[in-house]
Amino acid sequence: MQPVQPPALETVALNKWFGSFHALKNIDLAAPQGGRIVICGPSGSGKSTLIRCLNGLETFQKGAVRVNGIDLSRDRRQLQRLRRGIGMVFQQFNLFPHLTVMANCILALKRVLGQSKAEAAGVALHHLERVRVADQAHKYPSQLSGGQQQRVAIARALCMNPKIMLFDEPTSSLDPEMVKEVLDVMTDLARDGTTMLCVTHEMGFAREVAEQMVFMDQGSIVEIASPASFFTAPGQERTRLFLDKML
Ligand code: ADP
Ligand code: MG
Repeated sequence: MQPVQPPALETVALNKWFGSFHALKNIDLAAPQGGRIVICGPSGSGKSTLIRCLNGLETFQKGAVRVNGIDLSRDRRQLQRLRRGIGMVFQQFNLFPHLTVMANCILALKRVLGQSKAEAAGVALHHLERVRVADQAHKYPSQLSGGQQQRVAIARALCMNPKIMLFDEPTSSLDPEMVKEVLDVMTDLARDGTTMLCVTHEMGFAREVAEQMVFMDQGSIVEIASPASFFTAPGQERTRLFLDKML
């Protein structure tokens, strides 16, 4: 018998409070290895808080987050090791403004993985080529368009060779003409078998890429469904109302 593979990323009855405010309520979510989950829901529903809990950027009070079956909160060293395997891309690109594109990409490779500058530069160039911004490597973030900056942020995350990529509304602060170039890069990633959890309201992308659609509202998961049933026959009234506004 084949050993059963644990999910790449899993939450079990995850609960999070900010003071007395109950921000995440019993979140159960499981992304299989190579799985692709798209999370949507109204502003304030807890999407970013959930994503941040998944890579230890945010603490939580109850429940568990497991990466490949290992508890994220077991100890600090464990957390650091697990986090290394999780890449994250934010709405605001979060590049270091005083560093060139190349320097942004090689920083963690040198500091965390101890690579030489030459070795790190080779890795960085590979990923910058993958997201089609290698020709911008010598520039500073402020000299790039928003779409280019976000692609650099994706390349920077990929440099650490993550098994899991988390995206939190990666195209929300982009001008419309730049959304597609970022979504195209994300679609390529999905094809490469990277486990992806993506908060986005780009429903065309979601239909094409997601294996599971998750709809959140008021800190709870209201519905989890395949894109086919989610978009054509949502099971919950709240999902339907949300989609009516989105599509
Ligand atoms: P979303 O990403 O779905 O828009 P968030 O996860 O950012 O929602 O926020 C969920 C809720 O938690 C919101 O009501 C927000 O105001 C609250 N919240 C988020 N971060 C904090 C914080 N650091 N302190 C207090 N409340 C917070
Ligand atoms: Mg958010």
